[in-house]
Amino acid sequence: MERYKICPTCQTKNELSAYLCDNCLADISSVEEYKPKERVLKLVNSDYRLSITLKDGDILGREGVGKEELKAFKTISRQHARFFLHQGEWAVEDLDSTNGSYVQGNKFKKIRLKNGLKLSLSQSFEFEVVIED
Ligand SMILES: [Zn+2]
Repeated sequence: MERYKICPTCQTKNELSAYLCDNCLADISSVEEYKPKERVLKLVNSDYRLSITLKDGDILGREGVGKEELKAFKTISRQHARFFLHQGEWAVEDLDSTNGSYVQGNKFKKIRLKNGLKLSLSQSFEFEVVIED
């Protein structure tokens, strides 16, 4: 990933080596490199004592991330759903899984996630979404 710093005056991204902001010419010589926070998403199922940690772009499934934890759950597809960050928010997309993905009984293709949401893969297996700040 490219390295950059953000102008505190106008929020423009600038090259790390810049002394003046490209946009507003503010002095940014002492601004530190911008480091996005690594935001971790966890899917937790306390009945089965499962906790699966996901990073941006991870594909969950019996042959994806969580395969050790999920291998006994045959209704979950090999590549069930993709978890990703969109504009800093976690989202999930069902990858045309055989048994689908649901929240509160409603099947979805793509949704935004929030902390505490109950996410069901294949309607027989529910996870609680835990987003750490
Ligand atoms: Zn600026």
